[in-house]
Amino acid sequence: MFRFLKLLGKNLAQGPSTDPFPAKEAHTPERFRGRVVVNPEQCVGCRICHHMCAGGAIRIEDNEEKTGYNFTVWHNTCALCGMCRHYCPTKAITLSTDWHNAHTQEDKYDWAAHYSIPYLACAGCGAHIRMLPPQLAARLYAHSPVDMTDLLKLCPSCRQLAAARREEISNDTHEQE
Ligand code: SF4
Ligand code: SF4
Repeated sequence: MFRFLKLLGKNLAQGPSTDPFPAKEAHTPERFRGRVVVNPEQCVGCRICHHMCAGGAIRIEDNEEKTGYNFTVWHNTCALCGMCRHYCPTKAITLSTDWHNAHTQEDKYDWAAHYSIPYLACAGCGAHIRMLPPQLAARLYAHSPVDMTDLLKLCPSCRQLAAARREEISNDTHEQE
């Protein structure tokens, strides 16, 4: 009995060991995998996240006018696995620490985030394009004399032309030296 009273007194003096949720926010670790968020400014529309998503939670479709694409993340089917974040070449998609995911059965198909992302205009011909992922461009044009930042803003045809022209100029310069 004495041991019990001693333990009870100690615990009362220490106070609760758990968070007082819902009276206050619960502690969330920094590496907690919560609701998926997308930064439209960084997304290049490569669809890698869509192909990697085990939960089938990501949909990327051209809009009706073909001037951009609609990016949808269905929180209802997201398994919070983090594969989209791991494979995204621009770090445009990530998992937040927001764990407030409870929703009613009726809301399950509305429990989604929608982003409308415009295409870029090709700096060469003005055609609508998705920007080339910088990591892919770095591998494709590792030995090209063309400035990488210029290449990223070109459509595939203009990119080929720019790379060919720069190589031609570069070869001429070497021959003259
Ligand atoms: S992997 Fe990243 S850059 Fe590619 S579509 Fe998904 S969010 Fe956008
Ligand atoms: S965390 Fe996993 S399940 Fe959720 S959207 Fe990303 S890849 Fe899909």
